[in-house]
Amino acid sequence: MALLGSTGSIGTQALDVVRQHPDAFCIEVLTAQNQADLLIRQALEFKPNIVVIGNETHYEKVRDALAHTDTKVFAGAGSIADAATCESVDTVVTALLGYAGLNPTMKAIQAGKHIALANKETLVAGGAIVCRAAREQQVAITPIDSEHSAIFQCLAGEYMNPVERIFLTGSGGPFRGKKREQLQDIKPEQALKHPTWHMGRKISIDSATLMNKGLEMIEARWLFGVKPQDIEVVIHPESIVHSMVSFQDGSVKAQLGLPDMKLPIQYALSFPQRLSLDVPRLDLTQTGNLHFEKPDTETFRCLPLAYQAIDKGGNMPCIMNAANEIAVQAFLEERIPFLAIADLISRTMERASFLPAPNIEELNESDAESRRLCQELIGTAFPS
Ligand code: MG
Repeated sequence: MALLGSTGSIGTQALDVVRQHPDAFCIEVLTAQNQADLLIRQALEFKPNIVVIGNETHYEKVRDALAHTDTKVFAGAGSIADAATCESVDTVVTALLGYAGLNPTMKAIQAGKHIALANKETLVAGGAIVCRAAREQQVAITPIDSEHSAIFQCLAGEYMNPVERIFLTGSGGPFRGKKREQLQDIKPEQALKHPTWHMGRKISIDSATLMNKGLEMIEARWLFGVKPQDIEVVIHPESIVHSMVSFQDGSVKAQLGLPDMKLPIQYALSFPQRLSLDVPRLDLTQTGNLHFEKPDTETFRCLPLAYQAIDKGGNMPCIMNAANEIAVQAFLEERIPFLAIADLISRTMERASFLPAPNIEELNESDAESRRLCQELIGTAFPS
């Protein structure tokens, strides 16, 4: 397999899965953006054929550290996309951060690779063209996101039975139950403290704003071909039920487990087989009560923005995603307050040029335009 984004939260856990099953999986390609030291350690352990460091300033360091091995070292975004098409690769795990996942994923699909998708922004920004390319190339996209893995597991054996409704569960993040007045002075450290999952910084902020559920709703729309109005977000603070599917006879199937990303990562790689996994087991008598409630869309405005974006279609989800990436970064750098994230996304969605049926080049331009617009809005509203 090629593991794109090997030093992030999903990447390192994917390598844990490979460590547990050295006979089942073989690492051909590892790529990382900035974390050169960790990438070097991973390359020495897993002995891939190719390593790519995205940030070219680290190229010489990585090349010199691996000079005594058989691993070939490349640098730059273009090399990440090229490595995904390498002939000896069957499966590409896309664990890259944000919009940067779209172009390598498209290249991998065009090269006929099975995609184990952890990068939800790929489907948010480019769902229509990614799914069309996957159909044309007869390539499977298997979800790694825990909710989508749950839905995928619920659908196993259902063949052509139509899905009536998807219940996408989410913990509600660290600010569940809080109102807008209580969220005015939130600091990044508070927003990064997720109650049930340990994740990267960007997705942790997305969980705190509920944008993560918005992105996942759009991801589910494309993965499972379900209308957005048939995907309902349900807040479930214990993170035990990872999502549910209901069918036309009223039956509801759910997938349960303790929150641990190694299970959905491994399932995406081993499907249709289930392999052993050394993780703690769920004991519902210990868990006690499970709670479910409706999301508070007055306080968490990113979620309705995501429904608005997918209803509008075209490049609107791409615009929303780009503005979100810029606003989240600005919040992490303490340049904007927490509640400004949704406002900035909404205002960028009003201003960016709308395209009803963009191709990949137009999406790349739209992404760049939306980032620029959102930065301008930040510069005007929050001068440093
Ligand atoms: Mg998720």
